[in-house]
Amino acid sequence: MTPLLKHSLQALAAAVLVGAALYCSQKPQISGAPGEGAAVSAGEGTAAVTALPAQEIDGPIFGTVYGITIAGDYPGGAEQLRHDAEEVLNRINREISTFAPDSELSRFNSLASTEPFPVSEDTALMVAASFQAGRALSGVMDITVGPLVDLWGFGHVKKHEGYVPSREEIEETRKSTGLGMLHLEYGYGGSYLKKDRPEMRVDLATVGEGFAADALAAMLDGAGVENYMIHVAGAIRSRGISPRGKPWLIAVEQPVNMIGAVNTVINPRGRAVSTAGSYRNYFEKDGRRYSHILDPRTGMPIDHATVSVTVIGDSALFTDAMDTGLMVLGADEALKYANEHSLPIYCLVKEKDGFRARWSRAFAKYMITGGQ
Ligand code: ADP
Ligand code: MG
Repeated sequence: MTPLLKHSLQALAAAVLVGAALYCSQKPQISGAPGEGAAVSAGEGTAAVTALPAQEIDGPIFGTVYGITIAGDYPGGAEQLRHDAEEVLNRINREISTFAPDSELSRFNSLASTEPFPVSEDTALMVAASFQAGRALSGVMDITVGPLVDLWGFGHVKKHEGYVPSREEIEETRKSTGLGMLHLEYGYGGSYLKKDRPEMRVDLATVGEGFAADALAAMLDGAGVENYMIHVAGAIRSRGISPRGKPWLIAVEQPVNMIGAVNTVINPRGRAVSTAGSYRNYFEKDGRRYSHILDPRTGMPIDHATVSVTVIGDSALFTDAMDTGLMVLGADEALKYANEHSLPIYCLVKEKDGFRARWSRAFAKYMITGGQ
């Protein structure tokens, strides 16, 4: 990437921070930059060049942020858009928040019995997708890590902040985790969750953002909106063209404290994108960094040089379920899996003097710039 392009990307991205990945709705610098793969963005069957009106909203959700940009109009305008989006997001929050004690998931988690517990269709879908990713990745994506998340102080139990538990505590807590001890059952009239041990806790934090992005996309599709970009933290859905009449582009963030540094720019071609990263949510103790992503095999926070994994797929629920597990595996194993399964993934690995990008074969066609 030329220094000039890099500089302009950074300046641009700083303005549109969305979490682990950034989205860029306006990119004249990219499509106009010589030698930077401009042909990719120019040639995707998007002949429209006329600027469209843009509607943009953003707001807080799940302790993070969401945003929607529409090129064109939303029926009822931006206020109606906000109202409709909040309805969708609040519903999901009532279902899966582990911070709200009366959410569906919190009630299941605090249930002192192993009886089947009726759950909403949303929750059942998230659990099913998580099971699928968990099985595909040999258990490293594990939504039953809840007790460990709490033990390490990353959950709703804040009393342990900065606290490093002992090996004994970890082993004791691990007894209440394990995908094989959680069951999703479909019965007459709905779905049920069942745990083998009452103290088990399910944590859907890592798929909730992807699910919410899909739910917002379905809402916009239902309203006949053809051009949009949605992000819920690091989970992104897009369709059609940006207000500039160009494909939507997404910038994968450079994992440094400087917010908005860009590592590479991709054209997702209408597919979902999400990123898991260990560099934003962690605590430090005695010079060591403890990430909020845990390795269920050890009960410990991941401790390797891979700092983020970006996944492209058909739904944000799928990509969000896969990115965390691939992050647990680290770049070597994640890329092996991705190349065996033709999965587009992009990893950033910390090296002595910076970051190295590594991507699977299937990822290359989405890249517009960067990857240095
Ligand atoms: P990121 O912030 O990197 O995008 P997410 O917020 O999507 O990551 O997911 C991280 C959260 O997922 C953690 O805070 C924890 O609640 C939960 N979690 C941690 N480790 C695992 C794991 N191995 N499998 C499933 N969920 C996990
Ligand atoms: Mg995830």
